[in-house]
Amino acid sequence: MVHPLSDRLLRSWLRCRRKAWLDRHGDPAERLWNPHRALQLADREKRLQQCIDQPLERCTGLGALQRGEPAVRLLLLRRDGICGRPTLLLRKPQPSQLGSFSYQPALLQPGRHGTREHRLTLALWGWLLEPVQGTAASQGWLINPRGQRQRLNLHSGLNQQMQTALTRLQQDLKRRNPPPLTHDRRKCTLCSWRRSCDAVAEAQGELSTVSGIGGKRQELLQELGIANRQALADAPGDWLLQQLEERGIQQPELATELIAQATVQQRGIAEPLQAGNPDPLPELHGAPGVLLYDIESDPDARDDFLHGFLPLSRGADGRFEDADSAPYRPILALREHGEDRLWQRLQRLLAAHPGWPVLHYGETEAIALKRMAERQNSEAPHGLVDLHQRVRQHWRLPVDSYGLKAVASWRGFRWSQPTAEGARCVLWWRQWRERHQRHQLDQILRYNRDDCLATWAVAQWLSNAAASGNDNSSPASSD
Ligand code: SF4
Repeated sequence: MVHPLSDRLLRSWLRCRRKAWLDRHGDPAERLWNPHRALQLADREKRLQQCIDQPLERCTGLGALQRGEPAVRLLLLRRDGICGRPTLLLRKPQPSQLGSFSYQPALLQPGRHGTREHRLTLALWGWLLEPVQGTAASQGWLINPRGQRQRLNLHSGLNQQMQTALTRLQQDLKRRNPPPLTHDRRKCTLCSWRRSCDAVAEAQGELSTVSGIGGKRQELLQELGIANRQALADAPGDWLLQQLEERGIQQPELATELIAQATVQQRGIAEPLQAGNPDPLPELHGAPGVLLYDIESDPDARDDFLHGFLPLSRGADGRFEDADSAPYRPILALREHGEDRLWQRLQRLLAAHPGWPVLHYGETEAIALKRMAERQNSEAPHGLVDLHQRVRQHWRLPVDSYGLKAVASWRGFRWSQPTAEGARCVLWWRQWRERHQRHQLDQILRYNRDDCLATWAVAQWLSNAAASGNDNSSPASSD
């Protein structure tokens, strides 16, 4: 059976050759549901409504194109076994076999800048239009999130690139085995195949699994003959330093750090970085309690919509209360209530816990509070402790990322909603804002509370590991 090529496959291939192959041949059971895709589709619908000034039914289907409607949305086009669904077709007053008008394709860019993927997709859509209107589109449009339009000439060079990409895509799809993992593994964060690809990368000891190695460093190391994590762990530090210096690489001293990180990951044993194991969290000593703090954000909307706190008081025996049964204190930041009110609520909560360190993982929380304080002509709260920073200062860990998910999971912490992640939380938030269904809010709060608990799991390990001088200390409830 011959499967047609499509614009979606081309876009997958332009992001990662392996992704296109997996989209066609991969085991669907290994494919994760992708909240980013759901967010993109919801965003596309919203932006389409803003772009089109006519009822939805008037701008849908082939009839809309034949009638010459000003805009036609998501029309399926086919040509020579290739299909595509341009997001928008915009009418232009240039004659074609349709009448006194013709159409040009438009793509809604997710970000400010158009990419090669966007340009080649527009070229494909322009080419697919030819059988319908008798002429290929000579121009296309990139529309950014602000609604600004940028014209793109669909010149012969671009069309040639698009045809070459389609030929190479076809060749890749005929392979018996998938193409290698992409070098730039940052792309994997948004990919529905990341779980299976992560497993492959780990099994093969790929360089990309070493924390601190991105696409460029991986290429460089491979040029130097370092093929995988074990080879990096075995590389002589002086030699690698010299190689990086000779190539004019910034911060060549990173060579030592990368080798050490690869070694720790290969051995699976954490390594203390400070002689004598000083206490990484002295703020907890003698504190009457600790506030665990985590923000949930919608980065595209620049909206920190939830400030979640888990206060843990310290009992007379010097032990912190059990985090699992501690009362969770979420503060929803609804924009319509204004920032003044949010600021007051935050200040009240912090004032109710004088002298309690505020433990958070990563810089998001501290930056958000500092900026809010500036806008409120107020002073930023004191006592914030960035646990991520302390982990990095005191330990080298056998993890491929020092993010909360990776570090807490390494310590055995499990989120109560296993598939939850930041993007899914944003999706729940947007859905809750539209429909106000209680269960979506409950899922967000549960996820945020789990993040606070994960922060505490890491903090406990960090304190105990310093006290015992190794990484195998079990989590405890005292300081
Ligand atoms: S997870 Fe990464 S390597 Fe795998 S298909 Fe997706 S983008 Fe490619």
